Amino acid sequence: MPIDFDCAVCKHRIRVPDGNEGKRTKCPKCHAIQPVPSEADELKLKDSLEEPAPPKSSPLDDVFQPMSTPTENVSRNPYAEESSQAHDNPYAAPQTPGNLAAANSSRMEAMSKLQTPILTCLGLLALGIVFNIISLITMVIQVNGEGAQGANSVVALATYAITFGFAVGLQGFGCFGLLQARDLKNYGLAWAGFIIAALPCSCCFVVSLPISIWGMMLLADNSIQRQFNG
Ligand SMILES: [Zn+2]
Repeated sequence: MPIDFDCAVCKHRIRVPDGNEGKRTKCPKCHAIQPVPSEADELKLKDSLEEPAPPKSSPLDDVFQPMSTPTENVSRNPYAEESSQAHDNPYAAPQTPGNLAAANSSRMEAMSKLQTPILTCLGLLALGIVFNIISLITMVIQVNGEGAQGANSVVALATYAITFGFAVGLQGFGCFGLLQARDLKNYGLAWAGFIIAALPCSCCFVVSLPISIWGMMLLADNSIQRQFNG
């Protein structure tokens, strides 16, 4: 293995064949005569190159030290202090993990309290929609079967269609409101859902009226109202 070393004068890389350790050689560039280092010396040289250079110490360094130390610079930066004050905003909601867990659990509690009246009213509203559609179809068949002719039957059918169509639309909106309530999304729509479930849109209201009142009582609860997003 040939020996590589830098010229002590011009730093030119000199390569000499193996077995020349301790002998003298001439730099091909600047012709300075110098000893060929042994392998041990070469290793020492490599080690010192790999180690981080020790900090230069001059009298000037002591004078400039407070300015040149990076960590001190950061702590003395007036803008850094300002940004740390921003975190102490008294109006910001506390975001510690414990508080977040508590907020989550009270949200889950509100959801589970509302779940039974919401799902019951939803089911009854859906059932009411089916009843109303069947009623309308029955009316149409009946009017046609009676063989009623002329303006009277048209008016009767139109009245049924408008009445049941309005009821079905209202029930559909009620279902939408209750779905919003289930996800604690919109407080106003949650109220609308329970109020519609209490209206006599179909025969189902007999059952859904007391349950929707139960739901409205839960909605009026402050601790549940606070869990709604809007
Ligand atoms: Zn040289």
